[in-house]
Amino acid sequence: MIWYPYQQMKTMRQPYKILDAQGVYLYTQDQKLIDSVSSWWSVIHGYKHPVLTRAITEQARRFSHVMLGGLTHEPAQLLSDKLAQWLPGDLDYCFFSDSGSVAVEVALKMALQYYMNQGERRRTKVLSLTHAYHGDTFKAMEVGDDEDYHFILEAYGEKRDVIHIPTRIDALEEAFAGYHEELNCLIVEPLLQGAGGMRMYDVSFLRRARELCDRYGVLLIFDEVATGFGRTGNRFVADLVLPDILVLGKALTGGYLGHAVTVAGHKVYGGFYGDDPEKALMHGPTFMGNALACSVALKSIQLFEEGDYLSRIRRIEEITRREMKGLAHPGIREVRIMGGCVCVEVKDGTLLQGYQQFAYERGVFSRPFLNYLYAMVPYVITEEELVKVLGVMKEFFAIRQP
Ligand SMILES: *Cc1c(COP(=O)(O)O)cnc(C)c1O
Repeated sequence: MIWYPYQQMKTMRQPYKILDAQGVYLYTQDQKLIDSVSSWWSVIHGYKHPVLTRAITEQARRFSHVMLGGLTHEPAQLLSDKLAQWLPGDLDYCFFSDSGSVAVEVALKMALQYYMNQGERRRTKVLSLTHAYHGDTFKAMEVGDDEDYHFILEAYGEKRDVIHIPTRIDALEEAFAGYHEELNCLIVEPLLQGAGGMRMYDVSFLRRARELCDRYGVLLIFDEVATGFGRTGNRFVADLVLPDILVLGKALTGGYLGHAVTVAGHKVYGGFYGDDPEKALMHGPTFMGNALACSVALKSIQLFEEGDYLSRIRRIEEITRREMKGLAHPGIREVRIMGGCVCVEVKDGTLLQGYQQFAYERGVFSRPFLNYLYAMVPYVITEEELVKVLGVMKEFFAIRQP
C-alpha cells in the first residue's frame, strides 16, 4: 500500500483519486477540480499539454534513459545549452539530478568542496534563513528551518554548522561580521519562502547579501526550485541579483517528470576544473539528465518563452490583488501576494479545518497547511477560473464569521 507524504496514516483523510487531468483541471469520479496548487507548484502549463506530451512520447520512441556516466545524449546537451544561454550572467554549468532536494544537496556540496579544493578547511558553515525550506534530505533539512524536522535537533543536538537568520539586513550584516571566515555559502529561497509559509521579502536583502558575499568571498546560492520560472513575477529572481549557484526543479519540466538542476557560474566551476582527479565533483544520481525529462524541459522552456508568460503572471497578480482587496476577517493575520502566489495567513490554523473539502465541493483543489491557505495556480488559468479559486477562499471566510 502507499505510504503518503507528511501524513499520519492512521488519521489521514482518504486522498481524492484522480482519473484524468486536462489544462488546469483534475477529474475525480464525481468532480472537476481547478488545481490551485499546480501539483506542488510545478504544473505551470497545465495538464496534458499536447506539446509536452508529444516531447515525451517522441523521445520514448528513441530511448527513455541512458546514464550520463561515460555516455551523453542530445536532450541533455540541448537542455544544458539552452539553460546556459537563457539563464542570466555566467550561470553556464548544469549538473542534473532527479529532484529538488538532491539538487540542493549538490549545491551545498559544491560550495563546501569549492573551498576544500583550495585548501580552505575552515569554511564549513552555512548561513541560511529562518523559515527556510530546501527539501527533505538530511543536509537540506539542516539548512532548512521547519518545525516538523526539529526531531533531528532532538536526536543529534544543536546543528553548529548552520546559522539561521531572519530576512533583515541588520541580521545579515551581523552574521557576516561574526562568521565570515567560517562560511562557505549563504543559501536562500530568494524573495519568496515557499513551504515555510509563503513569506515574502524585499530584493534589497538579496542585494546586500550579494555585496557581503563578494566582500568576504562567500558563495551565494539561490534555491529557485519554487520561485524559478516566473512564480515571483520575475522570470528568475537571479535576473535581479546574480547568485554563484542556482538550483531549479519543480517547474523545470513543466511538472511532467521529476527533474532538477544545479547551475554553477564560472568561478565555482573553475574551482573544480584542473588536472587533479580529487578535485572533481563526486556526485552522480542514477537518473541525472534523464532523456524524457530533458526533452520535456526543453519544450516547457519554449512554451514559457513563446507564450509571453511574464505578462500572464502579471495579469494573475493584478486579478488576485483586485479580488482579494475586500477580504477581511478577524482570524486573518495577513494576505500576501507576489506574482503567481497568494497566501492568506490566519492566526490559528484550526480556522482552516474543513477548507479542503469545502473547496472540493465547489470545484477547486486546495491544500492548506498549518496557518496558510494559498494558491499557486497554473499560468494558463483563465480570469474566470482564477476568480473562482479566489472566490471560494472568500466564501469560506464569509461563512466563518465569528
Ligand atoms: C520543493 C522544494 C525543494 C525540494 O524539491 P523536491 O523535488 O521535492 O525534492 C527544495 N527547495 C525548495 C525551495 C522547494 O520548494
